Amino acid sequence: MVKINPNFLKLQGNYLFAEIARFVKEYTEANPDKKVIKLGIGDVTEPLNPTVIAGLNEGVAEMSRRETFQGYPPYEGFDFVREAIAKNDFADRGINISKDEIFVSTGAKEDTANFQELFSTDMRIAITDPVYPVYLDTNVMSGRGGDFANGRYTNVTYLDCNAENNFIPAIPTGKVDIIYLCFPNNPTGQVATKAQLTKWVEYAKANNALILFDAAYEAFIREPDIPHSIFEIPGARECAVEFRSLSKTAGFTGTRFAYTIIPNDVMITDETGAKHQLNKIWVRRQATKFNGVSYIIQKGAAAVFTSEGQIQVKKTIDYYLENTKIIGAGLSKLGISYTGGKNSPYIWLKTPNNMGSWEFFHKLLNEANVVGTPGVGFGKCGEGYFRLTGFGARANIEEAMERFAKLKF
Ligand SMILES: *Cc1c(COP(=O)(O)O)cnc(C)c1O
Repeated sequence: MVKINPNFLKLQGNYLFAEIARFVKEYTEANPDKKVIKLGIGDVTEPLNPTVIAGLNEGVAEMSRRETFQGYPPYEGFDFVREAIAKNDFADRGINISKDEIFVSTGAKEDTANFQELFSTDMRIAITDPVYPVYLDTNVMSGRGGDFANGRYTNVTYLDCNAENNFIPAIPTGKVDIIYLCFPNNPTGQVATKAQLTKWVEYAKANNALILFDAAYEAFIREPDIPHSIFEIPGARECAVEFRSLSKTAGFTGTRFAYTIIPNDVMITDETGAKHQLNKIWVRRQATKFNGVSYIIQKGAAAVFTSEGQIQVKKTIDYYLENTKIIGAGLSKLGISYTGGKNSPYIWLKTPNNMGSWEFFHKLLNEANVVGTPGVGFGKCGEGYFRLTGFGARANIEEAMERFAKLKF
């Protein structure tokens, strides 16, 4: 008899986006003449920029010649790309992160999912509500969830994000060990200030906790005083790990390139009280379970960190941000309140007349043929909220908002 890992049976419901896709498919099959506009999934729509394409082509050419051919890449990533990241993302911003603290991977989804296996299963995790579901579900799979009761896992500390706290979670009153934070946030689009992040670093240091900081959307930050990295906060080098990705930054969702920053100063403790460098434990994990990112892709990624690459990346993100501005203006005209959109591709709107998230989803799909994401899919606190994204073609965004304007609530 083969027994299942019982933790898998504790996972709740269908994966949110699979569920949405099913409703959209049903609708389009029943209404083949209707043009459905998708403002739902957080996926980019603009092609890779010319600098990236040139980098990729260079990689392809090198792979075609015996003298420059590459076999297995290093687990940590090639030095040329790690050095480019250390300079562009950190040194140029006055942040002290060295090349040997940067680990290349195929995705921040994988990294945020895999990272929890470095820690004892009795560690208490804290996640925001609403949340990017990967952090929660991977911990549930590993047995850190406890039981599911009244819509929540008993062993998880939930940090509520709502209109009252302006979608910035309060510091926990009790003790937690591992804290997942994501700013600019998916799904709320909210950003955290230096002062707010400083409080989290102080909490982590006082409680020997670790912050797992997801900076997948840092490239969307346009306001000057908003931190792009947790390592802008003094003391974070001892208590934080940061996940970054080219997916949303440079349109790599289909190309796959991400990187995780583990400062040499982060130490974790074994049962005897002896300290271990977290950085080295991740290297050991990767060496066992991962065989690196394709040379060709790393050549394309390195191009992103050149000055020309940075100019092109900014141009594409400006396009998405203009889209979110159009969405935001359309909502404001209708008197619908929202957060996000300024330093983020996400708009987190409060449903009119206190409609439920799914009720609003179906109204929007059926009456405007626009698809968005029900907030409740990201957690209990997301009920009554709805996520729209600025990814998409300008004409579609404009058309979607024209249809929005005709809705009756
Ligand atoms: C899109 C996204 C990522 C990036 O994931 P990849 O696997 O690198 O494509 C990470 N975190 C959040 C919150 C995201 O929305």
